[in-house]
Amino acid sequence: MGKPTGFMEFTRELPGKRPVEERVKDYNEFINRYSDEQLNKQSARCMNCGIPFCHNGCPLGNVIPEFNDAVYRKNWEEAYDILKSTNNFPEFTGRICPAPCETACVLGINQPAITIEEIEKHIIEVAFEKGLVKPQKPTLRTGKKVAVIGSGPAGLAAAAQLNYAGHQVTVYERDEKPGGLLRYGIPDFKLEKWVVERRVALLEEEGVVFKCHSNVGVNVRVNDLLREYHAIVLAGGSTVPRDLAIPGRDLNGVHFAMDFLKQQNKRNYQSDPLAFKEIESNVVGENILTTGKNVVVIGGGDTGSDCVGTSNRQGAVSVTQFELLPKPPAQRTDFMPWPSYPMVLKTSTSHEEGCERHWAIATKSFIGDEQGNLKALQIVDLEWSSGADGRPSQFKEVAGSVREIPCERAFLAMGFLHPQHKGLLEELGVDLDERGNVRAGEKSFQTNIPKVFTAGDMRRGQSLVVWAISEGRECARKVDEYLMGQSVLETKDAML
Ligand code: FAD
Repeated sequence: MGKPTGFMEFTRELPGKRPVEERVKDYNEFINRYSDEQLNKQSARCMNCGIPFCHNGCPLGNVIPEFNDAVYRKNWEEAYDILKSTNNFPEFTGRICPAPCETACVLGINQPAITIEEIEKHIIEVAFEKGLVKPQKPTLRTGKKVAVIGSGPAGLAAAAQLNYAGHQVTVYERDEKPGGLLRYGIPDFKLEKWVVERRVALLEEEGVVFKCHSNVGVNVRVNDLLREYHAIVLAGGSTVPRDLAIPGRDLNGVHFAMDFLKQQNKRNYQSDPLAFKEIESNVVGENILTTGKNVVVIGGGDTGSDCVGTSNRQGAVSVTQFELLPKPPAQRTDFMPWPSYPMVLKTSTSHEEGCERHWAIATKSFIGDEQGNLKALQIVDLEWSSGADGRPSQFKEVAGSVREIPCERAFLAMGFLHPQHKGLLEELGVDLDERGNVRAGEKSFQTNIPKVFTAGDMRRGQSLVVWAISEGRECARKVDEYLMGQSVLETKDAML
């Protein structure tokens, strides 16, 4: 540990952001880089705990105190080597991870946690700038061929690892370009797409082949893949959105969040926003824009926040966000022993940019004009009662609180149910679990179909990028063991 007293001398400091008035005029990232001095102080805060809970908090098992120490000593090569030993894509997690490692940071018991996510981003960006990131080509080819279906973070991580183990990997992606939700869901202001393109180019240099516009189960036959490949990894994500079946749902102006976000992500890259329609989407071939509109976002997670940020950038007149649940506490309560209880009120950077947030509200109906266009929402306040564990469990409508609010664009951001079943999964005949996700062994990642494995949101349900990368890596190891009888690939269990 470079500076044993660092945590007593320095306080937590995040890098600055571009001011709201400036950043809402474009879609670019807006979080600045640390100065060398700031980075040095922030990495010095790590206490190198006897039992560093951050390792376990991170689904990848990132070896955090060690890379903090290397950053403090400005040994970038060492810091990068430590980071890449557990994480294929720190440039993604360093930008958009909710950082469960920080929630687990021991310093968080009585001081704000180490800024692990930002330090991670700096390590990988400095590594790229210093030319330390080189294609990791396998030294030997095994002669085995693996198809990965889906190019989100789970598919990319599985492909990277399997290629590294020497297998010939082909990634099938139904969309125009690789990246999954990194490219088409998460907006540029959180993750600019050159970051995804830089990584995809590196994977191509390493030997991974990408086949886009390849919708397996639609224009690519699953049986052909089963014949051609020694193993298949299903990494198609959880893409069927939760709907809101209330009167007026069919009105023009009511959309699934992903239909809206995907269009803007395409527009940012001069790609036709209407050129590609997903099977489960209700896009009717229109541009979904919020310019000059009153917008309501229904749902309070990452997807909802991204709709808030995108609506403001498009020039919405007002942006309101409704959450069904009551407002969580702003800070951990006295009886909550965890350093930073994950359920406390989370405010995203998009909320800083202008958004009225309302809690414990249900939407009863969408109200339209004579042309069938959305003009208002009928809403009602909810009164929640808590269960034995103190969490809200039941609600009833507050008498006399039904009212209408003006709204011409409503976005449904209430999560995702499961992967799309039609096409790939039905044709394969793969077993599903009770939630409709692909069933696979907890540790084996193997489905009921011989030589077919699965990882990421398709297996675990809607989750996080860091979990998708972790699942891709762990699944790759199991595929490697299946193909070779043993594996050269790292596993999280070995890191802890
Ligand atoms: P995906 O990223 O969904 O990728 C699946 C890919 O498979 C897609 O490209 C799809 O086109 C392709 N595919 C599916 N079926 C087929 C087929 N039959 N043939 C060929 N290709 C197919 N997580 C965070 O950690 N931080 C965030 O800030 C964050 N923000 C989010 C914002 C939004 C709007 C959304 C929707 C999610 C967000 N998440 C965030 C969650 C995160 O993006 C996902 O958990 C993660 O991308 C899942 O990775 P995946 O590889 O399993 O699936």
